[in-house]
Amino acid sequence: KQGHAVTVFEKYEKLGGMMMYGIPDYRVPRDVLQYEIDRILETGVETKMNTKVGVDVTIEELEKEYDAVLFALGAMSGRSLPIPGGDATNCVSGVAFLEAYNQGRLQHITGKVICIGGGDTSIDVVSVARRLGNIDNVPEKDRPEHIIFNDTAHDVVDTSKRLGADVLLTTRSTIENMPAAQEEIDDANREGVEIQGQLQPIEVIKGEDGRATALRFVRLEDDGSTVIEGSEFDVECELIVPAIGQGVDNEGIDGSFFNERGFIDADRNYQVPNKPGFFVCGDVVRPHLLTTAIGQAGIVAESIGDYLIGKDQSARPKVDVHYFDLMEKLNEWDLAPSEEYDSAGTPGKATDKADYAVHNYEDRSFASIIPHTELFLGHFEHEDRVARNHKLVNVDNVLGNFDERLIGYTAEEAQQEAGRCMSCGLCFECDNCVMYCPQDAVFKVKKDESTLGRYVDTDYDKCIGCHICADVCPTGYIQMGLGSD
Ligand SMILES: Cc1cc2nc3c(=O)[nH]c(=O)nc-3n(C[C@H](O)[C@H](O)[C@H](O)COP(=O)(O)OP(=O)(O)OC[C@H]3O[C@@H](n4cnc5c(N)ncnc54)[C@H](O)[C@@H]3O)c2cc1C
Ligand code: SF4
Ligand code: SF4
Repeated sequence: KQGHAVTVFEKYEKLGGMMMYGIPDYRVPRDVLQYEIDRILETGVETKMNTKVGVDVTIEELEKEYDAVLFALGAMSGRSLPIPGGDATNCVSGVAFLEAYNQGRLQHITGKVICIGGGDTSIDVVSVARRLGNIDNVPEKDRPEHIIFNDTAHDVVDTSKRLGADVLLTTRSTIENMPAAQEEIDDANREGVEIQGQLQPIEVIKGEDGRATALRFVRLEDDGSTVIEGSEFDVECELIVPAIGQGVDNEGIDGSFFNERGFIDADRNYQVPNKPGFFVCGDVVRPHLLTTAIGQAGIVAESIGDYLIGKDQSARPKVDVHYFDLMEKLNEWDLAPSEEYDSAGTPGKATDKADYAVHNYEDRSFASIIPHTELFLGHFEHEDRVARNHKLVNVDNVLGNFDERLIGYTAEEAQQEAGRCMSCGLCFECDNCVMYCPQDAVFKVKKDESTLGRYVDTDYDKCIGCHICADVCPTGYIQMGLGSD
């Protein structure tokens, strides 16, 4: 959109990050993901695949060749289990387990799996393990840990050989207080995962060959931290998968970019502090959600754009949302004012004398998040939410079941759900203000001059400031007493 040339360096052979290599395909269908990636690439993005920054290309080289650099490295390294024996060869991180599955290399598990965690990653691990199923008596090279660590692949599996996998998920908190969403916990239970709360692993019991044979636990009180004395017990297992946090792979990248926790700090514009020309966003700042990373990416793209044209970056809106900007809309419709306008984006500057901006302000970012108390709720009838359906998988059909679980809306349902939007803070052209103004001060903008957000105008020579228009405006779009001129 801004017209800058962009090159993406990607260490893997496919783009998509955690959506491609972490989140299982029955949550994010890969054809949909690939379609979205292709749509972005078609805008003219150059890619350099299988190129690891810090190893295949240095930061100094990037600095020389490009005007700005964005670190969107994610946090794709899993934390290992910080207890004695945690280095056992069959102790693999949740992200490594899921990566091997998502690359199609891991086709089954062998023997009992214990996953330690309680968050969303651990839920993904156990539900993948249940779907993959168990095959016993495999050659040494086909044990899951070899597949995961050695970048090798299982041969295509004869599905009739798979049996239900024995999968235990443990967490330190009570099950009710696990960080994963209740719906996810219910799904895992239904799919045959055994979940035990208030357990803390204290030692991996290893055999002479360095492989774990069991995991030793202690039981915890309800608070999830006080150890119950004498409660130690061992659970035999073939694979241990800690899903207890993520870290950043910083190989070859100068340590001065990273904070003491191994992540990269960001200022409010998502610039790396004291590193002009370097920007950062997503999990490498703090592991969170896709929406967080995507939202930050929108902001950082603007920041980089400003940086490249030498624009002051200090003036970001207080709340960073995609707000409606009337001036942008007017430009889109060739209705932009010809004269220079000097108060763009300045809340408190009225435009009642200008013939292009109505309802006082062309930039309403300051009002784009409004409290519900500013809505006139009497205008709206209650409409039930259109709930999305789930394909419920259970213990009998989980094996080999990689169908998408969430059933998306039909076009009709999507429209119905979108119809519940109350347009908070925006004018949705209901005419209430025109009808109820006792002074006929509010009038509709001429059709050939109107556009979204420029629907009604006020004649301030007639207005007596009675507040009625603001009171009857269902969306809270009208705010009184904001002008200073
Ligand atoms: C198992 C799991 C399940 C999740 N489920 C959900 C979910 O259901 N919903 C949700 O909202 N979020 C979920 N998340 C979180 C979500 O995946 C992340 O927040 C999001 O992917 C972060 O995006 P990102 O672009 O910052 O990093 P990533 O998606 O991790 O992408 C980083 C990219 O940088 C590349 N890269 C890294 N280092 C280099 C280098 N040196 N050189 C070149 N390329 C490099 C990587 O290969 C990767 O492509 C989940 C996370 C995990 C681990
Ligand atoms: S404040 Fe009263 S008079 Fe003024 S525009 Fe609103 S309804 Fe009309
Ligand atoms: S009452 Fe509010 S939403 Fe309705 S037309 Fe007037 S400004 Fe727009």
